[in-house]
Amino acid sequence: MKKLAFFLILPLVLCGCSKKSETRRFFALDTQISITAEKSLCDRAADMCKKYEKIFSRTDPGSELYRINYLGETNLSADIKAVLKFSSEIYTLSSGAFDCSVGALSDLWNVKERTVPPTEGEICAARARCGFDKVSLSPFSAGGTVLDFGACAKGYIADCIAAQFRASGAKKAVIDLGGNVYSIGRCTVGIRNPKAPDELFGRFTLTDKSAVTSGAYQRFFEYDNVRYHHILDPTTGHCANSGLCSVTVISPSSLTADCLSTAIFVMGESGISLCEAFSDTDALLITDDGRTVTTDGFYEKYAFEALG
Ligand code: AMP
Ligand code: MG
Repeated sequence: MKKLAFFLILPLVLCGCSKKSETRRFFALDTQISITAEKSLCDRAADMCKKYEKIFSRTDPGSELYRINYLGETNLSADIKAVLKFSSEIYTLSSGAFDCSVGALSDLWNVKERTVPPTEGEICAARARCGFDKVSLSPFSAGGTVLDFGACAKGYIADCIAAQFRASGAKKAVIDLGGNVYSIGRCTVGIRNPKAPDELFGRFTLTDKSAVTSGAYQRFFEYDNVRYHHILDPTTGHCANSGLCSVTVISPSSLTADCLSTAIFVMGESGISLCEAFSDTDALLITDDGRTVTTDGFYEKYAFEALG
């Protein structure tokens, strides 16, 4: 079987794309990016990714977020303000399951490099430095927390790139920020099988919307036959363990889809009701025991086709 790319969700076919379009692949925002559009728009998207990396990177000492987290910067750009404000709404709606102040826990778990889980004492100490209730939006104060926009920045950036493309008159394009997909016009998108990530679970049609998947099989390490992944439950300080292994959210707003996929992953099946608060927003959940749960009419609306 042909190996699929790394992402949880991936564009398969761009329908009716103009002959002049090209696919540009590059690494940015800590992930593999793929843009299918006219050459000049690919150039613009690459520039925008570089610009936003200097704003939202948690690890680059030259980024705005690094200055906020570690150098006491309180003067925020409009981009950070916008993401912070929306994150605060999702924090409230999800009763704290989505919390972009989990940076101290993300730093501790550091699943990209760790091979052994942290101790309960270390988790407890990091948890004490998390909690969006400590953050003040106006005047801004991080309240001793470390902000982490890993669960929402790519959604915000995909929306910004899509808005630029539309303003330039684009009718067909696919913006794929490491599996955070936005389609202008129609494309077919595949969802990985979380139990066999080299295979597809299904595919569906995406038209003028974004699809984002959160899964436990993208970034993780294993220790003593237990998988430790990158989505954290702020209540316990441990990896989320809500009975779901994959959550895909489809919305006209990639920021909404990105925030909700993470929030629902932490909350479990009941979290699917979060979609009701947003217009034209749907979800497909895959449970650890192999069931599929969707918002009403999902299969018909997106012409979903099960595979494998
Ligand atoms: P995603 O892949 O969009 O679900 O986002 C996961 C990333 O968001 C992680 O790598 C962390 O950087 C961050 N994160 C982890 N847990 C949470 C959470 N409960 N709320 C908000 N952000 C989180
Ligand atoms: Mg997310």
